Amino acid sequence: MKKGYLMTPGPTPVPKTVLDDMAQPIIHHRTSEFTAIAKEVNQKMKKAFLTENPVLIFASSGTGAMESAVSNLKVPGTKALVINGGKFGERWGELCAAYGFDAVLLEVEWGKGVDVADVEQLLKKDPQIKVIYATLCETSTGVVNDVRNLAGLARKYDAILVVDAVSGLLSDKLLTDEWGVDVVVSGSQKGFMMPPGLGFVSVSERAWKVAENATAPRYYFDWLLYRKSYAKDDFPYTPSVSLMFALKAALDMILAEGVENLVKKHALQARAVREAMKAIGLDIFAASPSNGVTAVRGPEGVDTGQLTKKLRTERGMSIAGGQGDLKGKIFRIAHMGFIDQEDILALLPEFEDVLSSLGYSFKKGETVRVAEEIMGCAQR
Ligand code: PMP
Repeated sequence: MKKGYLMTPGPTPVPKTVLDDMAQPIIHHRTSEFTAIAKEVNQKMKKAFLTENPVLIFASSGTGAMESAVSNLKVPGTKALVINGGKFGERWGELCAAYGFDAVLLEVEWGKGVDVADVEQLLKKDPQIKVIYATLCETSTGVVNDVRNLAGLARKYDAILVVDAVSGLLSDKLLTDEWGVDVVVSGSQKGFMMPPGLGFVSVSERAWKVAENATAPRYYFDWLLYRKSYAKDDFPYTPSVSLMFALKAALDMILAEGVENLVKKHALQARAVREAMKAIGLDIFAASPSNGVTAVRGPEGVDTGQLTKKLRTERGMSIAGGQGDLKGKIFRIAHMGFIDQEDILALLPEFEDVLSSLGYSFKKGETVRVAEEIMGCAQR
């Protein structure tokens, strides 16, 4: 039997304690026993999101939480600004289109971070823009965006900033309240070290005011309904009881380590992977790389689809290929959530083997040597 390695930017591996807690017998959700769990989770989610605002929990994947941030913020007479630098920025645009939310699209070259000066120009030109949709870690390109300065601009131009932190939260720095980020969207299957199935969204006072005037049709994802229940540590509809058990266990692990330490840990792992790749002559795709995932350009003549397929089927190691136009051209190694140094060191020799079998020549052993040196674990 072979151990499988899951090093994709979602889903990510789930620690045994989280799996064990999730396997508890189901309890009814309208009981004091469940309410006590919800209460603890709600308090701890604020700490994980670095906010005093409520964090709503939906039984959906991250995209459901993204959808809620469109349907609940569309107010007649206002426009959205969508920053699109990859697959997930594109999704904001598609969601706005689905809800008929008039959106100005700022196209950013894939692999680059957004230039905040371009955002300011658009906000200056069009005072109808009242919601900005951005992405912390654009998982498709491995880019981390300058959310801090976007938040400053949003305040200056009286707009709400919504950040998709589905993959970025807990690995890339995001000081929600300190920077003034109004809405942070995330999901369970990446930094939270859980199975897929929960969507999260934190909502600031400013964003609640907008939501109170929103007119787009919505039902399951109506924030105002969730707010009413949240005040009593309850849910309007049946919550995912098992995933709530898992979330409680995962939050205990996350807060025991501390958000700041987690970000540092992932920053180190990211640096190790980047330098390992550069050491064998490969280029990092992202101009401002994320701590959670490293996107690497495949060498000339190598189809990265073959690389990821061979790694998975022959070595039991899952990394991700490219999406959209980047299919076959890049590969992505995740180092977010529960993925640790040992996983990286287990991957690299297999990665080298497979890469060389595809015809790329380089000095064998270099990726491991460099990664070990950076992570300070050469003695192991
Ligand atoms: N945004 C980003 C940045 C993501 O990485 C993902 C998942 N890959 C999503 C949104 C969508 O989340 P989900 O697949 O959970 O709906």
